[in-house]
Amino acid sequence: MRVEENKSLKNLNTFGIDCKAHYFVSVTTIEELKQALSLKTSERLFILGGGSNMLLTGNLDAFVLHINIKGIEILKETETEVLVKAMAGENWHEFVQYCIANDFGGLENLSLIPGNVGTAPIQNIGAYGVELKDTFESCNTVEIETLKEKEFTKVECAFEYRNSIFKNEGKEKYIITSVTFKLTKKNHKTSISYGDIQKVLNDKKIETPTIKDISEAVIAIRQSKLPDPKVLGNSGSFFKNPVIDSETFQEFRRNFPEAPFYEVSPTEFKIPAGWLIEKAGFKGQRFGDVGVHKNQALVLVNYGNATGKEIFQLAMNIQKKVKEMTGIFIEPEVNVF
Ligand SMILES: Cc1cc2nc3c(=O)[nH]c(=O)nc-3n(C[C@H](O)[C@H](O)[C@H](O)COP(=O)(O)OP(=O)(O)OC[C@H]3O[C@@H](n4cnc5c(N)ncnc54)[C@H](O)[C@@H]3O)c2cc1C
Repeated sequence: MRVEENKSLKNLNTFGIDCKAHYFVSVTTIEELKQALSLKTSERLFILGGGSNMLLTGNLDAFVLHINIKGIEILKETETEVLVKAMAGENWHEFVQYCIANDFGGLENLSLIPGNVGTAPIQNIGAYGVELKDTFESCNTVEIETLKEKEFTKVECAFEYRNSIFKNEGKEKYIITSVTFKLTKKNHKTSISYGDIQKVLNDKKIETPTIKDISEAVIAIRQSKLPDPKVLGNSGSFFKNPVIDSETFQEFRRNFPEAPFYEVSPTEFKIPAGWLIEKAGFKGQRFGDVGVHKNQALVLVNYGNATGKEIFQLAMNIQKKVKEMTGIFIEPEVNVF
C-alpha cells in the first residue's frame, strides 16, 4: 500500500476534471482498507470508486481512498438460482458480462453502466426498467469509525429510486466492500418492454431473446444515445427525474399539456428531467468547454479543459431556468464535491 501525494485524478473521474488529491491510496484487500483507515490523518476521508458519479469542483484537500478490491465468487447454487458475490472494485460492466457469459440472468438490462460494483447499491443503479435492488441479496461493509465489518440485507439498504441508506443515515459511515446478487440459472425473467429494447430485437428478428441478446440490445441503444466518457467527459445523467405532487402536476399540465410524464402513484408524477432541460433551451448548447449533449439533454459534458466549477455553474443555471419556466425543481443525481 503506497500513499501518493498531490496525485492527479484526471484519469480517475469520467468528467475528466484535472484536479489533485492531497493524499491518495489505492487499496486491493479488506486488510489494506482497514490499514489505510487506521492511518492517523487530519485530512477528511474521500472514497473513490470508478469516478463516474461525481463532479470535482476543485483540488481535494483530502485523503482519497480508492476502492480497488477485486474478485468474483459463487457462494451457493441450486438448479435454478445462484448467489454470486463480487468485490467492490470490480468494474460493473465487466461483472455483468461475466454473469452473461455464465448464463446468470437478472443484470442484462444494466449492461454498460459505468462505475464499480461497490458503488452500485449507493444510488440503486437502474436502467431500462430494472434496478439493482431487483437482484440484490446483501452487501458487506466496513464501518469507517470502528473498522468493524457489517452486512446489510436488502431491507436494511432501504432502496428507492436512485436512493438507499448509503445516501442517508449511512452516508460517509460505511465503505461497501462486496455485493452479493441472487441471479437465475434458467427460466430467466427478462424485461424487454422498456425503451427501444423490443425494437432493436425486432430489427434483428429475435423472437425469444437470450440474456445475451438483451445485453447486446441495451449496449447498442446506450452507445447510440450516450457519449462515451473516454471520448467526451461526462457523468451520465446529471439530474434526477423530478417527482412532483398532484397540485404541482395539475398546474404543470395546464402550462405544458404536451409534456411526457409517468404516474408513480395516484398522487405522485415523474417528469423526465431531460424534457424540462430541452424545454428550457439548453439541449446542444455549448459555453466554452462545457455544454449540454446534443442528443441527450440530461448529460452535461466537458469538451476538453472545463473546470468542475464551470460545469457546476452551468448545472446551476439550468436548475434556475427550469424552475423559472416550469415551476419544477430539478436536483443533481451526480455527487458534487
Ligand atoms: C455515461 C454514463 C452513464 C451512466 N448511466 C447510468 C444509468 O443508466 N443508471 C445509473 O443508475 N447510473 C448511471 N450512471 C452513473 C454511475 O455510473 C453510477 O452512479 C455508478 O454506480 C457510479 O459508480 P462509481 O464507482 O463510478 O462511483 P464514484 O463516482 O466513484 O462514487 C460515487 C459516490 O459513491 C462513493 N463511493 C464510491 N465507492 C464507494 C464504496 N465502495 N463504498 C462507499 N462509498 C463509495 C463516493 O465517495 C461518491 O460519493 C452513468 C454514468 C455515466 C458516466
